[in-house]
Formats: sequence, C-alpha cells, structure tokens
Amino acid sequence: MAYGFDTLQIHAGARPDPATGARQTPIYQSTAYVFRDAEHAAALFNLQEVGYIYSRLTNPTVAVLQERVATLEGGVGAVCCSSGHAAQIMALFPLMAPGRNVVVSTRLYGGSVTQFSQTIKRFGWSAKFIDFDDTDAIAAAIDDDTRAVFCESIANPGGYITDLPVIAKIADDAGLPLIVDNTSASPYLCRPIEHGATLVVHSLTKYLTGNGTVTGGVVVDSGKFDWSASDKFPSLSQPEEAYHGLKFHETFGPLAFTFHGIAIGLRDLGMTLNPQAAHYTLMGTETLSLRMQKHVENAQIVAEWLEKDDRVEAVTYAGLKSSPYHKRVAKICPKGAGGLFTVTLKGGYDSCVKLVDSLELFSHVANLGDTRSLIIHSASTTHRQLTAEQQTAAGAAPNVVRISIGIEDPDDIIADLDQALSKASI
Ligand SMILES: *Cc1c(COP(=O)(O)O)cnc(C)c1O
Repeated sequence: MAYGFDTLQIHAGARPDPATGARQTPIYQSTAYVFRDAEHAAALFNLQEVGYIYSRLTNPTVAVLQERVATLEGGVGAVCCSSGHAAQIMALFPLMAPGRNVVVSTRLYGGSVTQFSQTIKRFGWSAKFIDFDDTDAIAAAIDDDTRAVFCESIANPGGYITDLPVIAKIADDAGLPLIVDNTSASPYLCRPIEHGATLVVHSLTKYLTGNGTVTGGVVVDSGKFDWSASDKFPSLSQPEEAYHGLKFHETFGPLAFTFHGIAIGLRDLGMTLNPQAAHYTLMGTETLSLRMQKHVENAQIVAEWLEKDDRVEAVTYAGLKSSPYHKRVAKICPKGAGGLFTVTLKGGYDSCVKLVDSLELFSHVANLGDTRSLIIHSASTTHRQLTAEQQTAAGAAPNVVRISIGIEDPDDIIADLDQALSKASI
C-alpha cells in the first residue's frame, strides 16, 4: 500500500526494535557491532552482505533516518553526513576529479558560494557561477570537464524559485547529473527528483530537524542516472581497487551512488552523522508537514504586511503576486513558497543593522528553518566574505535583511517587526 506524505514522515524506515519492541527508534549509541563469525565479517567487508561494521560507515539510528528522507524525497537511497556542507562535498566527491568543474547557480546559500568558489579549488575542482534564469548561459558554461549541475530549489536568501524541469533538461542533454539543494523547501514543499534531479542534498540542520538542535546533512539518490553511459564517472563505472576491482554501478545498479557514499565516502572522508543527531532529526521529520504548512501560512501573512509598509522598499517572497517567481510556485512547489525571504529597507545598511538590533521576538542568528522567527543581515554576516557583486547576485545586498518566518502567532511576528521598523527608520 502506498502511504501518503503525512504517514511516511512518521513511519518510513522505522520498525519496532527487534530486540525490545521499543516503538520509538532507539539511539544506537554504539561504535561497533559484533560479527556472527569470521565469515560474516569477511562478507561485510567485501560488500557482499549489508550490515553494521563500525559507526563511521553505518549505524542503525542513522539508517532509519536515511531511509525516511530517501522515501520522503522519492529516492532509492540516502547517505547522512555531519552537515549540509559535508553533504555537498559527499555529493560531488564520486563525480569530480582534479581539473573537473561543476556549473552552479549564483543564487545559493552564502556558505555554499564560499565552498564552491574557494575551498573546492584545494581538490583541483572548480565551479562556474551562472544566473540560472539564463538557460542559454547554463548550456554554454557546460564543457568537457563539467561533471555536475548544482542549484537550490527555493534559493537562499531571497526565496527565489528555480525552474527545475528546465535545468534538469539542460543537464540531461549534456549527460550530467543535476544536484538540487532542497534545504529551504523540504520534501514537503518540493520533490526535486519528480522534476528531474539526480541527487538531492539537504542541510538537516534546517527544516527537517526544525528546531535548531542539530547540525547534519544528507545526500539522496534518485537511482535514475546511468553512470556507465559515458566514461565521465569512473568512480562509479570503473573497477574500484580498494574493493578488489568491484564496479559500483555494475554491482549495485540504482544503489551505486548510495553504496559508494557509504563504502568510500564515509569510510575515507569520515563526515559521519552521529546517532543522537539522527534521533533529533527523526523527531523533527514526524511533524514536517504541519510545520511547513504553518511556516508558509505565516510567511504569506508577514510578507503581505511588509510589502504594504512605507518603511520597506521591497519583499522578495515568491508567494507575493509582485514576485517575478510567483508563477513558478504552482509548478515547482505547489504547497507554498517556503518561509524564507529578504526585505529591502528604504533606510539602507544602517536601518538594517538597527532593525536587527531592535527586534525582540526574532532572534538574530545565522540559521534558518527553526520554529522560531529568525533574522540576519547577510551582507555583514553570512555573505560577508563575498564581493559586492557576489552579494548582490546572491540577493544579499547591503540594504537587505533575510528573514526566516517561524511558526509563532503571526500577529506577534508582525508586532515585533512593526516596533523594530519604527526604531530603524528614524
Ligand atoms: C544551511 C545551509 C547549508 C549548509 O548546511 P550546514 O548544515 O550548515 O552545513 C547548505 N545549503 C543551504 C540552502 C542551507 O540553508
């Protein structure tokens, strides 16, 4: 029987604990797992049998979360990691090599811009930043060394909506996987695999956990990409020396990327999610749809109120009719445009700083997707390392604040913004 989303967010991946009958998934706080005998151990190490060896690779609590997120995203498998940024490296790692590049959207989380423009160079990888509304430019940027296309579904910080089927077609025509960061939407609002994504990455830190208690990430595989169709992805299609010449794609079929992520990625890069964190995120996913509905409802009310206010120059929320991305909501995320947007203040940089300092209910933090309403002045914080052009291209100009609307009473959110805007606009 095919269950609906609200049922799957509670049940997918979980079953009563076989040892105790515990209904809630136990936190398996164990580093290692006893082998039945030497033959069992050898089979596990040869990847001939699936099981638990050591918690850097696999852990039963983390495994439940992997299955749950994979199910909610409509994927075949998932690998949890220690953070959203770890997930991005884990997604690229099997695809890239020195001299290879990834074509990425300019509209990304600030930390991702830094990771892609600076840090990945240390691996000999590079990123080409393109305006993903300019489809000709994306196609033109793809060259013989490109190994992936990367964007966010609902993009940070402005809540812009990416036309995923169009981007997926460009990647597909070039024989490349499309990686979509679905953090700001969550699988409740958007399921990128249905729009043609090959891999979906998340920062579990945000809506999936939902209350600001965890740092974690996940890579979900659609299982749909043919890694052997070209010679571009030798890590997946060619013999792997570390496993006696095993070919991941030939051996594991649609699960090739997931097995590689565990058997090579987690084993050797070690960016493992701990079982405590997986437990908190499992708790969070149980109420994902309820929270997302309320985030969307509140964001709509608050964005409409802000847009009418004299002290405000512009609001980017795609749920507003004035947004150039409004039409894409019905196509990409029909249940709503998320809870994240930016506000441009008439008073410029100084007003933004004053607003942030005057808010009482809002928290001034570098986070999003919490039950609490959060605000940040991106230009002086998360996007500080970027050049002025990069800041503006990323939607984080100096006169802009980013807001993540929580699930409090909308009247209280508005009252707090109202009093702080008064102080910020003198
Ligand atoms: C937070 C965030 C990340 C990075 O996740 P961490 O868990 O902080 O490493 C990546 N992408 C988006 C869209 C994010 O919001």
